[in-house]
Amino acid sequence: MSLPDVAIIGAGVAGLTAAALLANAGAKVTVYEHHNVPGGCASFYQRDGFRFDVGATVVNGFGERGIHRRIFSHLGVSLDATRLDPAMIVHLPDRVVTRYGDERWQAERRAAFGDDAEPFWHAQERIADTIWRYSSRLPTLPADLRAIAHLLSTLSPDVLHLLTLQGRSLASLLPMHASPELRAFVDLQLLITAQTDARQCDGAFGATALDIAREGTFHLPNGIADISIALARSVRANGGAIRYRTEVTKIRHTRGRATALEFRDGSIRPVDTVIAAIPFENVLQLLGREIPYTLRTKQRWSAVTAYVGVGPDVIADDAVLHHQLLADASQPMGEANTAFVSISGAQDRTRARNGGRAITISTHTDPSLWEHVRANGSLASLQRDYSTRLLKHLHRVLGSNVVPELLELGTPFTFERYTLRHRGLVGGTPQARRSANLFAHSHRLDLRNVRLCGDTIFPGQSTVGVSLSAMNAVRSLGVHLKLGGSV
Ligand SMILES: Cc1cc2nc3c(=O)[nH]c(=O)nc-3n(C[C@H](O)[C@H](O)[C@H](O)COP(=O)(O)OP(=O)(O)OC[C@H]3O[C@@H](n4cnc5c(N)ncnc54)[C@H](O)[C@@H]3O)c2cc1C
Repeated sequence: MSLPDVAIIGAGVAGLTAAALLANAGAKVTVYEHHNVPGGCASFYQRDGFRFDVGATVVNGFGERGIHRRIFSHLGVSLDATRLDPAMIVHLPDRVVTRYGDERWQAERRAAFGDDAEPFWHAQERIADTIWRYSSRLPTLPADLRAIAHLLSTLSPDVLHLLTLQGRSLASLLPMHASPELRAFVDLQLLITAQTDARQCDGAFGATALDIAREGTFHLPNGIADISIALARSVRANGGAIRYRTEVTKIRHTRGRATALEFRDGSIRPVDTVIAAIPFENVLQLLGREIPYTLRTKQRWSAVTAYVGVGPDVIADDAVLHHQLLADASQPMGEANTAFVSISGAQDRTRARNGGRAITISTHTDPSLWEHVRANGSLASLQRDYSTRLLKHLHRVLGSNVVPELLELGTPFTFERYTLRHRGLVGGTPQARRSANLFAHSHRLDLRNVRLCGDTIFPGQSTVGVSLSAMNAVRSLGVHLKLGGSV
């Protein structure tokens, strides 16, 4: 079967994964990216001798059945991913919990949350094991006949058992008298992995999201952008093209088909097939369609980020690289009450000048807060407030005498500017009961030659999630993908 010529919008992990798989299969591929580097939310920027991860920092998907490892092995590309254990330290207001990926986790969680929480952790791990096994068979939504056939081939009795969880929240798995500390810990971890809390989060998704330390967290020597850079190299090695500084401003369509792309410089190029690897809201805008009211009102997050460079000898060589923090358990999550701190490794030569470290601190934020203060002219004061509060989190991790050599702040407007994401919304669709799994957007649209992928499409956020969405888009174009490593 002859493969279509594919125009891909966006060189984030989703777009580049689709491009690399298609180019490797022999398709003619052109990727259009508005920024001058690949990676989108999992990209990097350099300043004064420091190289910062811009958004995503935690690398998963390189374990035995991990999707990045399997895709890179299929492409014949090797990446220097080393396992981090512990994966991270979680700092609750009154205690610190180390997220080990091995058997040390059992003693750690018992010490932190007591024996009463054990049935919950056992259930969580049982569900996660089933879902990891299932997701290694690369499931999709039943969006077309090909997808239905593939979906059926992935089902097995243990997966059907998961249907009993349908409609249940993660909170329903918690013990009735769960301690406030356990609830805070679970909410905190779900915030970064599912973008929502235990009461809202889909039970099956939440159980898996709580398992990323056990499934494996990894380190890449130049930061998480190594993933996109390696994918971009593979696209080019297989004859594909990536056009940077090229913004698509419109998808022309008629009679149920996309016909051409329009670009910021006024040029127009006809298209055979399009993969839009950008958020769903951005797709609607490019098609000239309204963003439905239900999408506009759903709770969605943006992020505030602080990029901090520190000198040599500030951080011990064996320090744990990822930390999640909660300041006040009586206050809502996000908005600098919670933060995620990621530090470059001691051996990462490209990340910081003279043996220093590059640090990314991030917190969830509501973009309407920023839109409101910008309209009021008080943006600078909100920026100062967030800088101060994010630095407090860093001081809790590193000690209060640490003085940054460099500090820059990113806001929702920064994400909007550099990734073009509508309102700077990042992290994909929260995995709530009414938006996860069967309720997610599929890779199909009502235009026959357009496919979608990225973190607002099934299965959702993270470099791992968007890689699966890219595979589903590619498979639906008739590419037979047989990756090793399924169980
Ligand atoms: C602060 C933060 C922390 C995160 N932490 C983690 C983490 O630790 N681990 C993890 O796995 N995930 C994390 N994530 C989520 C993860 O980064 C994303 O889910 C994933 O990278 C999204 O990839 P994507 O390709 O779908 O979209 P994007 O990364 O947004 O890529 C889309 C690309 O399309 C380009 N583009 C958009 N519109 C156009 C247009 N019209 N024309 C041309 N180009 C266009 C953009 O410039 C961008 O490069 C985090 C995200 C953020 C923001």
